[in-house]
Amino acid sequence: DIESLSDLKKLAVLGIGNGGIVYKVSHQKTNSIYALKLLRLDQNGAFISHQAVREAEILKRVDSQFIVKCHAVFYTLEGGLCFLMKHMEGGSLFDVLRVRGNFPEDVISGIALSVLKALQYLHGMRIIHGDIKPSNLLINGKGEVKIADFGVSRIVEGTPTPCEACMGAYMSPERVDSERWGGGADYDYYDYGFAGDVWSLGVVVLECLVGHYPLIGRGEKPDLVALICAICFGETLEMPETASPEFPSFVKNCLEKDWRKRGSVEELLAHPFVNRTTSSNMII
Ligand code: ATP
Ligand code: MG
Repeated sequence: DIESLSDLKKLAVLGIGNGGIVYKVSHQKTNSIYALKLLRLDQNGAFISHQAVREAEILKRVDSQFIVKCHAVFYTLEGGLCFLMKHMEGGSLFDVLRVRGNFPEDVISGIALSVLKALQYLHGMRIIHGDIKPSNLLINGKGEVKIADFGVSRIVEGTPTPCEACMGAYMSPERVDSERWGGGADYDYYDYGFAGDVWSLGVVVLECLVGHYPLIGRGEKPDLVALICAICFGETLEMPETASPEFPSFVKNCLEKDWRKRGSVEELLAHPFVNRTTSSNMII
């Protein structure tokens, strides 16, 4: 067991995100490799923001084979917060997609199934991930996909709280424009918070097949206005002619703009697209 940060040696930077820096580290005594995420200060210069505490709280609670394992949470001498996690040797789906271009459907089916199983677990604990996107899906040495980064997640208990995440390309219509797509009187943050994770999965799944962010044209610059229009009003989805019938059916179920009509995690887990009997749907 790792007792203190001084037992760890930084080897490399694995990633730099909005939430902080992730280092590859080694534990001196056992020679084991881990990933260490060091959280950034918030805008007010505070070391431990509200959201950082939330992220730590969620990481301590979750325990699933479909979620990147967090071994320990440390408070640094300077008052900072960091998470010691399992090192995912394959890197993120974002990096792998950049190298590979796209994936065959059977591989995407495996990715979708893993994410759905992770969401089933999280939603069962009333946790909304809130930031499903390729850079937050990590791949281990066996090619298994697990979700990471609970930097904008929240636990729904008691009064629903609005989500603090800023605008992102994988965000659902109801989060981009809650007046148009949220549903006015029967505004129910509980349901559509969870449904937002399903939307994001749909964007990722389609991106894996077409090889670029799929809601706007290839090579188009995704400025904010174009992005918002595409998410809220885009009518057609780029769908390769070679796609199997199950593929568009699955994606359209996830990318249903009205969150009430969108497939639930349970419904999508029963979809034929993620129930293919293939022996090899791992990313290797
Ligand atoms: P962002 O705000 O950009 O979504 P973040 O700052 O919240 O990101 P993470 O998403 O947790 O941070 O990690 C950033 C990147 O670091 C990941 O996209 C991935 O490339 C790398 N990374 C994070 N955790 C691990 C891990 N356990 N193993 C390997 N690489 C990792
Ligand atoms: Mg991230």
